[in-house]
Amino acid sequence: MQPEMIATTRAYIGLGSNLNNPYKQIKQALSALKTIPKTEFISHSSLYQSTPMGPQDQPNYINAAAILETTLDANTLLTHLQSIENQQGRERNGDHWGARTLDLDLLIYGEIQQKNIKLTLPHPGLHLRNFVLTPLNEIAPNLEIPGLGNLQKIINNISADGLQILEKAP
Ligand code: ADP
Ligand code: MG
Repeated sequence: MQPEMIATTRAYIGLGSNLNNPYKQIKQALSALKTIPKTEFISHSSLYQSTPMGPQDQPNYINAAAILETTLDANTLLTHLQSIENQQGRERNGDHWGARTLDLDLLIYGEIQQKNIKLTLPHPGLHLRNFVLTPLNEIAPNLEIPGLGNLQKIINNISADGLQILEKAP
């Protein structure tokens, strides 16, 4: 019998936290990403500190990005990300851009481009956020972002204001 070929897809994850010891939250989330079934953890960026987007009356964020290789479909992967958020005490109060213990965004999933409320790919804010683009650039320089083009070109048009490295990736 022929072994079945299962396609793996490269997925990029954005991590953010600004509540309840954000440093610990991000470290714990990186460990949790390594436990997602049918998924290999490839690498992660340095940890960055960033000033909040939207409402300013909230603590600074810690952000990072990670690369996974997975045989899960995009929706199933998102469900795993949301259950990690929930395990780390994420409360969903409907407040966009509000303070959170952990935000895990599926930034890019292979070549897929789609717009729907549950899952938009690439992530809709990706090309505007230095705290997403800079960690991504560290782990995937010259990444071609589906529908958006070369990461280097996008990052050149974005200010690095408010962003600093907190802990360099090993
Ligand atoms: P944001 O990360 O933009 O601050 P939230 O994390 O509060 O916003 O938004 C979560 C909602 O966004 C979820 O209901 C989820 O289904 C939806 N969503 C749409 N596209 C994505 C994506 N690419 N990654 C993560 N969540 C997404
Ligand atoms: Mg999110």
